[in-house]
Amino acid sequence: MTRCVWDELVGQAKVADHLRTAVETGTVAHAYLFVGPPGSGKKSTARALACALFCGDDGCGACRACQRVKQGLHPDIHITRPEGAASYMVGQIRDVIHDVNLRPVEADRKIYIIEAAEMFNDGSANAFLKTLEEPPDDVIIILLAPSFDSVIPTVSSRCRVVRFRRASPELAEGMLVERTGASATEARAALAATGGVMARAVEFLESSSRRDARLRMLGVLKDLTVMDGHDVLRAARDLLKAVKAPLEDLKVVQAEEVREREEFLGKSGGKDIADRHKRELTAREREGVGEILNITESWLRDCLTISLRVGDLIANADVADAMEEVGAVITPTAATRALEAVSQTRQRISYNVSPQLAVEAMLFDIQEVLNCPR
Ligand SMILES: [Zn+2]
Repeated sequence: MTRCVWDELVGQAKVADHLRTAVETGTVAHAYLFVGPPGSGKKSTARALACALFCGDDGCGACRACQRVKQGLHPDIHITRPEGAASYMVGQIRDVIHDVNLRPVEADRKIYIIEAAEMFNDGSANAFLKTLEEPPDDVIIILLAPSFDSVIPTVSSRCRVVRFRRASPELAEGMLVERTGASATEARAALAATGGVMARAVEFLESSSRRDARLRMLGVLKDLTVMDGHDVLRAARDLLKAVKAPLEDLKVVQAEEVREREEFLGKSGGKDIADRHKRELTAREREGVGEILNITESWLRDCLTISLRVGDLIANADVADAMEEVGAVITPTAATRALEAVSQTRQRISYNVSPQLAVEAMLFDIQEVLNCPR
């Protein structure tokens, strides 16, 4: 039995009710601002709304339109992420505006999901205002942001605001177990690796290459104190290779999309998506690096939990034995230093430092802490 798309949203009953009613009564807004912390289900909800609008059967989850939305293949959903390291660039927004004015390909309307709306600056916001205020009738724009206050007021004031709250870890874990058939231990590890983002945790559990990357990261952390400099460099290189492995799956999906587009629009039809595909690959690689950083953080926190003997559940219970040694000696001060190295790495990567260099530096920093864990 397939459940309708609204039932699959975690801990967002109020939001789902609101949007579902809007679809049923034909009162869907032209511009939404979804605000809430990472992992609160903003993007999944935007996709559910797309299903409900394209499907004609309340988002059944099973029809061709719903399936294509879920697979990320529907040609009338456009997802935009900032191309600039610190903000949306005017040129990128102009491309979106040009696209907004084209007709839908398959459905009777188009949906634009604009991620990281907090990254609009004065210039890119000004370029977008008119479109945001009065998009064509067949266009719905959904902006996503971590909080209302993070978005420039000229943008937020032109949208209907929908607020998301993060589901409790217990609820998220329970849903993940129910949905994927994973054990509670596996679910907890997946949520730790994906920063608590349910949709990514589901994908994580289904991807053997991403689970392999996790085990490789945990293996490196376990052996870090006995590695020499050469070993550390090699470990960083292998980690990055493991992070890129799951991209092969995405390349298959992309090739499929190009093929379908060409079938529909002729040979030239697939060309305009090459750039988008490239951006998707870069974004997914970053997500993969983000995952090994999440895993490193959760491992350090686990070691600290063990050392403090507070009896809390640990995120990486499958490697609990391997954490005992570090857990026996690490102090809160040392763990904090190592955790700072991880957040510094995240920042460096957001400023376009090569992930490989950033991960190398992080491993050396953590190694130094673990060699003297006081
Ligand atoms: Zn459907």
